[in-house]
Amino acid sequence: MHPAAAPDDLQPLLATCNLQPLPLSSPTKTDTVRINSLPYMYIDTHTHLYSTKFAADRAEMMERVNAAGVALSILPAVDRSSHEAMLQLEQDYPHSTLAMIGLHPVSVKEDFEEELAVVEAYLTQRRWVAIGEIGMDLHWDTSYQAQQEEAFRRQCAWAIAYDLPICIHARKAIDELLEIIDDIDDPKLRGVFHCFTGDVKQATHAVERGFYLGIGGVVTFKNGGLEPVLRELPRERILLETDAPYLAPVPKRGKRNETAYLPFVAEKVAELWETSTEVVARQTNQNAWQLFELDHFVKPECSWASTGVVIN
Ligand SMILES: [Zn+2]
Repeated sequence: MHPAAAPDDLQPLLATCNLQPLPLSSPTKTDTVRINSLPYMYIDTHTHLYSTKFAADRAEMMERVNAAGVALSILPAVDRSSHEAMLQLEQDYPHSTLAMIGLHPVSVKEDFEEELAVVEAYLTQRRWVAIGEIGMDLHWDTSYQAQQEEAFRRQCAWAIAYDLPICIHARKAIDELLEIIDDIDDPKLRGVFHCFTGDVKQATHAVERGFYLGIGGVVTFKNGGLEPVLRELPRERILLETDAPYLAPVPKRGKRNETAYLPFVAEKVAELWETSTEVVARQTNQNAWQLFELDHFVKPECSWASTGVVIN
């Protein structure tokens, strides 16, 4: 097994923030303690590490996650076709991954009742970090909008019953989802608008409703439009994510995304906040701890145990 290094074009970035790719020996221990010696670490709050897009090089990809200083990866569920792969990955990397459970809006079709029954059964079996990803996607196909809303409302009700945060997928549907959340009007309903791409008004509405904003590769795009959101919304409500394998940040735009590219997102947020990536890491880690109540999941052997250190 060759030691893994961070991707080539990440090297200058790692050098500037004092992160050094560490020599790695055993793939079986790739998710434990090794990155504790880094000055600070990241949490990727939304990444599909179990995706078939990583089938050919998953072990090496996971080594790069480690080398980039991402200590914890939170895995959003999609549907029955990938639940098992997600849970297998979580089992293979028990100290650096946590799974959500839920039904993705794009997977809401004729059989959505069966899909929801599977989610409901999983919910009774163990503690989950969140219900997600759930929501509405009106980009490709609006023919299932009513069913998407029904599935979203049902899963919101479970989130309230189980007292869990939700992870929202909103594509061309932020206003529709905010309206549903207003209608549900339950202070227990909380979560994150993953891959947030809305404007300041929508962001403010979401934050006032107890939601966080998941910021990913789009923040690095020239016309991504997220600058005012990052400048004006409270830093306490910002989370970092990649949504790998999708939406790779500049300079990887258009390529397969990896969680190892999360530092590119952090660097752009640091630029907009006029601060260091270290401050961004610590602030967003603390936010993730708060929303996902990570103290319920942490064990001393988890490499991410120290990412929740309270900042002043
Ligand atoms: Zn996703």
